[in-house]
Amino acid sequence: MLLGIFAHSDDADIWCGGTLLRYAEVGSVAVFIDHCDMQRVNEARCAAEVLKYRLVVQEISRASVVEMILELRPSVIFTHHFDDVHPDHRRVSAIVTAAAIETKIQIGLPRQIFACDSYASRLRSATIEPTMLISIDNWVEGKIAAISMHESQPVEHFVDMSLRQTAFWGLRVGCKHAEAFVELPLLGRISNSAIF
Ligand SMILES: [Zn+2]
Repeated sequence: MLLGIFAHSDDADIWCGGTLLRYAEVGSVAVFIDHCDMQRVNEARCAAEVLKYRLVVQEISRASVVEMILELRPSVIFTHHFDDVHPDHRRVSAIVTAAAIETKIQIGLPRQIFACDSYASRLRSATIEPTMLISIDNWVEGKIAAISMHESQPVEHFVDMSLRQTAFWGLRVGCKHAEAFVELPLLGRISNSAIF
């Protein structure tokens, strides 16, 4: 089971949409996003249908994330990087990391936690250095369709940004499009293994 936890309604689709759709072929996927207005919730529901994940919209707090992990028991968590350029992303990353340590001690899950890509693959003090690159060659069209559901957002800009970033990461692993992830240590340890 894979659980994505993100600040905004379009984050899952932009940063890891291809991998979510690919993972849906082998396991279940849920995405937890923070409260937002009804239009953005409706857009996110349409994107969730395209990428075949269950969408949960609820206030993101340490308690709500712990509860969600204990209920869904994900082996893999995707979230934002702790050094992301967007302050909302950093806030969610800090909450998710703290909650994941709590549940890791309680039930041994998640097995792995990964930070996703960011705007132009920038962090505040560095650039993303992926520890895992997932080919999304067969799933990139679904990803673009999902991003396009967010009509209240600058769709053209995000589609262009996503395609350029995934094309760049694809170069590193010999495919057309790939998504980048950085495994975050849980209590000082990484699994160093693939999610598939
Ligand atoms: Zn965001």
